[in-house]
Amino acid sequence: PVDQKDAEKWVKGVCRYCGTGCGVLAGVTGGKIVAVKGDPDCAVNKGRLCVKGILLPKIMNTPDRLLHPLIRKDGKLVEASWDEAMNLVVSKFKESIEKYGPDSVGFYGSGQTYAEETYTMQKIFRAGIGTNNVEGNPRTCMASAVAGFVTTYGADEPMGTYADIEAADTFFLIGSNSAEAHPVLFSRIIDRKNSDPNVKIIVADPRKTRTADIADYYLPFIPSRDLALMNAMAYVIIEEGLTNEKFIADHTEFMKGASDKLTYDEYKAFLQDYTPEKVETACGIPAATIREVARLFADPNRKTMSMWCMGFNQRTRGVWANNLVHNLHLLTGKICTPGNTPFSLTGQPSACGSVRETGGLSHILPAHRFVANEKHRNELEEIWGVPKGTLPSKPGYHTLEMFKAAVTGDLKCLWVMTTNPGQSLPNLNYYRPGMEKTFLVVSETYHPTRTSELADVVLPAALWMEKEGVYGNGERRTNHIAKAVDPPGEARPDLDTIIDFAKRMGFEKLVPFKTPEEVWAEYQKCQAGTDMQMASYKRLREGHGFTWPVPDDNSPETYIRYAEGYDPYVKKGEGIKFYCRKNNRAVIYARPQIDAQEMPDAEYPFFLTTGRMLEHWHTATMTGNVPELKNAAPEMYVEINEEDAKRLGISDGDLVNITSRRATCKFKAKINGRGKPMPGLVYVSFHDKEEDRLINKVLLDAFDPGSKQPEYKVCAVQISKAS
Ligand code: SF4
Repeated sequence: PVDQKDAEKWVKGVCRYCGTGCGVLAGVTGGKIVAVKGDPDCAVNKGRLCVKGILLPKIMNTPDRLLHPLIRKDGKLVEASWDEAMNLVVSKFKESIEKYGPDSVGFYGSGQTYAEETYTMQKIFRAGIGTNNVEGNPRTCMASAVAGFVTTYGADEPMGTYADIEAADTFFLIGSNSAEAHPVLFSRIIDRKNSDPNVKIIVADPRKTRTADIADYYLPFIPSRDLALMNAMAYVIIEEGLTNEKFIADHTEFMKGASDKLTYDEYKAFLQDYTPEKVETACGIPAATIREVARLFADPNRKTMSMWCMGFNQRTRGVWANNLVHNLHLLTGKICTPGNTPFSLTGQPSACGSVRETGGLSHILPAHRFVANEKHRNELEEIWGVPKGTLPSKPGYHTLEMFKAAVTGDLKCLWVMTTNPGQSLPNLNYYRPGMEKTFLVVSETYHPTRTSELADVVLPAALWMEKEGVYGNGERRTNHIAKAVDPPGEARPDLDTIIDFAKRMGFEKLVPFKTPEEVWAEYQKCQAGTDMQMASYKRLREGHGFTWPVPDDNSPETYIRYAEGYDPYVKKGEGIKFYCRKNNRAVIYARPQIDAQEMPDAEYPFFLTTGRMLEHWHTATMTGNVPELKNAAPEMYVEINEEDAKRLGISDGDLVNITSRRATCKFKAKINGRGKPMPGLVYVSFHDKEEDRLINKVLLDAFDPGSKQPEYKVCAVQISKAS
């Protein structure tokens, strides 16, 4: 724990950054947050914080805090009253709906809003306006994990919790640089390793990251070839008799598509193309190493936890990558017991709590229901007191479709809240003109951002701990954030703005709420009867987070979903029950290796991949305002393998062009850098907003056909010294 200076009072909340969800105590003096320390009673971090968390007070009162609403007049954003701004928003939305229908408007939210905010907004759009154009940035970070869980187990979100870290003996980290992206979780993994010499860590990543520094086995696979790698591990597990046959027989079935069933023997036949010897060249990993790590993974005397993040999800075959890691756990039965679990990490503080659970994507409804399911729609219609058939059955635009519709002119009005797509979408040169063309409303804490600069209306938003609400982290933990200080100027909580919008649109009956607690009470009604029941507001206020399901006020939190003894919904004698699928069986999928859509060729001979660095977070609207973080990493650079740099005559600090089929950016070169990319690969962190270094302009906007999540991790580029 890090103790900072004394404060008049300490108020309980959750860190504003990554999906780890560390509990914090904010020290308040004179109406300002002057210090932050880790909450010693929060099970996630037990008092720890990373460098971003400890510096949280510095994001609060920055020179670019937006204090008043802005509206565009004569091409310029100028100050306006709330009344003027909201009247303009409502008149534009009403006009568009009247002329072009409900699907001509959309909402684009975020895994950084509070759960109550997304829940209320999606209700307005669906039950009030009549469109499923309710989408959010978790599509760009977590959608493949969602689809992976849903296709394999029938319901989204992990079965385990972070507590599995202390129980696991083998860690399989793939597509995750947790040392930089989830530092407090990584410190728990290091503690586990230091506490027991028996613990082994496998890290698979085309870059030898800081996470790989603690690996016992480092697997630098060729980008997008990890599907073949995991199939080869499955092959070895079966060939060497390391499967758990009873588990397979009792709890699984085999499939190759959405409905094509396979026999176990057919699945084994499928794997014949993935012997380690057949895939070693394609993957770039020696067959002997693949065999060794497969044995370690499957060792019946060890407990195995897999962890993955964007390296898996942000891919054109992200869902399949997710399915394949689940396969390894299902073949070995290493699931639903302490220390044995597949576990997807999340990038944002409440991607799960505020979007995946509340219905914040265009194909889902609150409490893990689906738009396409009539029964689910009817259940909500009853809870919300609207006539049967009110809720639209056609899923809305997914992220790239939504911004494409802005380009084509089909989307007339778009409201963006707590996110920065003008910097974070791939292939930005295509999508940014659409944001200028549509009537764009941006709810923001800071101005200008690369999105708010394109807006017609910018609404000043209260920041974290200037308002009360709930976050849900990556381990199903629902955690309450108290209001510690007042927002500056005329900034107000987004929930107040949403309620105001509902009233002006004529949806008062749908949105009778005055407080987040009232929203939560209704949201809990949507959770009733599902396994996603959460703690009451009273318990959330008093406690330090609860992992759902929490069926009632007397229930403890749930450690492991689907398992008797840990899950209140699995009765004695049932063992493990994947009750979200009709037959209670999880699916082992035959998923072939398919390369990324854009692989290097003679013209564009390098792979480009992007990711995070410790000091910054997302588009750096917050961390870019913290002098210590900004000084530590003032501008982004390109990491190049030393062999490639030598061949191209590039030295540390040289200015380098990175050119794809879509755009060129310029970065200073760092030879190897902290991530040491493999030969043929270059890497850039995506936190820089300067036009020349806006790396997302270079990226490809292909997407996974199942999850619709864009391909941020692999595209092909040329590298040359800039003159
Ligand atoms: Fe915040 Fe994540 Fe750091 Fe924890 S690990 S303090 S949640 S940024």
